[in-house]
Amino acid sequence: MKMTLIRDAIDTILPHNCLVCGKFPDADGRIPYAVPEGFHICFDCLSKVVPQTPDQRFFTCLSEPYKGDPYPQLPLYMPFPYKGFFETAVPRMKFHSCPELAEFSGALLGSLMVKDGIAADLMVPIPLSSGRLKERGYNQAELISKGASLVCNIPSVSGVLTRIKDTERQTEITDNAQRSLNVHGAFKTSKDYDIARLRVILIDDVATTGNTLHEAACALYEAGAAQVLCCALCGNRAVLNKESY
Ligand SMILES: [Zn+2]
Repeated sequence: MKMTLIRDAIDTILPHNCLVCGKFPDADGRIPYAVPEGFHICFDCLSKVVPQTPDQRFFTCLSEPYKGDPYPQLPLYMPFPYKGFFETAVPRMKFHSCPELAEFSGALLGSLMVKDGIAADLMVPIPLSSGRLKERGYNQAELISKGASLVCNIPSVSGVLTRIKDTERQTEITDNAQRSLNVHGAFKTSKDYDIARLRVILIDDVATTGNTLHEAACALYEAGAAQVLCCALCGNRAVLNKESY
């Protein structure tokens, strides 16, 4: 209690820069009690966390399904647009060593999942390649999954999927067919986990064409998963999926 008082006093005298916009908030722009300890974010940024309306959160995973696709109608839950808060926050959590922002964003995602009645047995984050993990020091999808898991009470397990193909960054490939080929066969499931008959939620930060989530979902189905819901924190997609999960 004493330590909390001292810390609050220090925060009042020496407020921190906002983790998202980097600005130094004035007294009205500070929210020391609304977010986890040590996490600093201003009201201005938090006011830009605006989810899609409930009827705009479900999509078909692949924006352009291909011929012979074994799972052409996989659902994608993507409740936030890639604009406002997340347009700034996602690059920060990926390229500016800001892991706490990923976990916080995961908690936002988790609270919407609860509201939307999404149930599952397991959450599985999309793994990074070992090279990129080394470079970044953490996997943002894993932290988003952890944040969501704490809110939803669905366990998040990171070792279920591994990347067996070191793919190019999907964002650097503009052609849709190339994106699909780039991630084809990129994932396998670990023999240490039995996911047979389980309902799994796959978690990633951003979805564009949906190819990465789709490939990972195929690997989970091949390992016997009963149902896979692809989930991305945010993205911009125009085509809606009428099917509910
Ligand atoms: Zn801010």
